[in-house]
Amino acid sequence: MIFRAALLVGLTLLCPAALAQRTPRELAQALQQAARAGDAAAYRTLLAAGGTFTVEGVNFAADLARRTPTDVTYTFSDVRQEGARASANLTLAWTRVPEGKSRAEGQPSRVTLPVGLVRVGEVWRYAGEAFTPVKTGLGTLLALNVPGLPERVAPLAPLLPRAAQEVRNVLGLPVPEGAVVKVYPDSPRLSASVYLSLPPVAGWNEPGEAIKLVMPGGTPAEVEAATLRVLTHEFTHLAVGLAAGPGRDKRIPWWLHEGLANFAARAFVSERGWGAWQSRVNGYARSGWVPLTDLADFPNVPEARWDNAYRQGLGVVEFLAATRGKEGPWQLTRAFAETGEADVAARTAGFPSFAALETAARTWLAAR
Ligand SMILES: [Zn+2]
Repeated sequence: MIFRAALLVGLTLLCPAALAQRTPRELAQALQQAARAGDAAAYRTLLAAGGTFTVEGVNFAADLARRTPTDVTYTFSDVRQEGARASANLTLAWTRVPEGKSRAEGQPSRVTLPVGLVRVGEVWRYAGEAFTPVKTGLGTLLALNVPGLPERVAPLAPLLPRAAQEVRNVLGLPVPEGAVVKVYPDSPRLSASVYLSLPPVAGWNEPGEAIKLVMPGGTPAEVEAATLRVLTHEFTHLAVGLAAGPGRDKRIPWWLHEGLANFAARAFVSERGWGAWQSRVNGYARSGWVPLTDLADFPNVPEARWDNAYRQGLGVVEFLAATRGKEGPWQLTRAFAETGEADVAARTAGFPSFAALETAARTWLAAR
């Protein structure tokens, strides 16, 4: 009997999580505990796989280990259970510490997301945000389940095929039929669904994840233009990743990815907006240019340099299109995907080296 008791204690110490999650409340506690500990592996065991959330949940968990939200709280409210499924509102509250800053400079953050829970045997698992599907002619369009949003998202449905056509027109690349687009009411909720350290963004796409965008505001014409701009941008990331081939997407430098995406969305940017982007990169070319190799790997680019990645990337793509023809930008991108080597890629695009390409682009932009 003593032996059995000792064994039981040992098991309890080894796997405390196995005793939790028998209720949604216990699941919230387990999620919170894993998140505060930065324990990505433990967090992943609490997730229900399904659709793009399979990849999104894993990437969210990886960020917990990278930039641990040590004070985050997880609270489920309005839990409605139906058999082995439940819907709830998840409120996340945490201090988002901007990159390179101390905890004292952190920003209090708080969002509430409608979510789904799944019971597997005796154990509840977290299934991510809850959405309402909106009928569309291309891929899957999903509106976050908050009052009024699905009705506002419905008129966006015809814009998916238009944005896909624009990517084909500008870059000659097809957008995959299975594209999934998730629409959120605001940036804080979108970013919190990606991962907790992400500053508020208006659009998002990573390989294997859904495209995420914020429902734009304004007049119907403004909403349409903003949606087409973001969709074309994010569809470009998807199409470039598909054309690069499996596992090769990450060989393409981040600045080039963003440059192509903004270049493809040109038709949906106002003359004034486009002029502002151009004068910004022309300015960087004269002073404040960040070496492109420092902007190649998104997770290693400090937030303070994101603007350089977007503007310089667009500038280099414009340079290639203007001096090497319509095929120029994709030629360089494809060479990066195939070789992962900057110098080899630059030679494929007709330059003696990557340094020569960068100098030529910078000189061209500085004189523009
Ligand atoms: Zn982008």
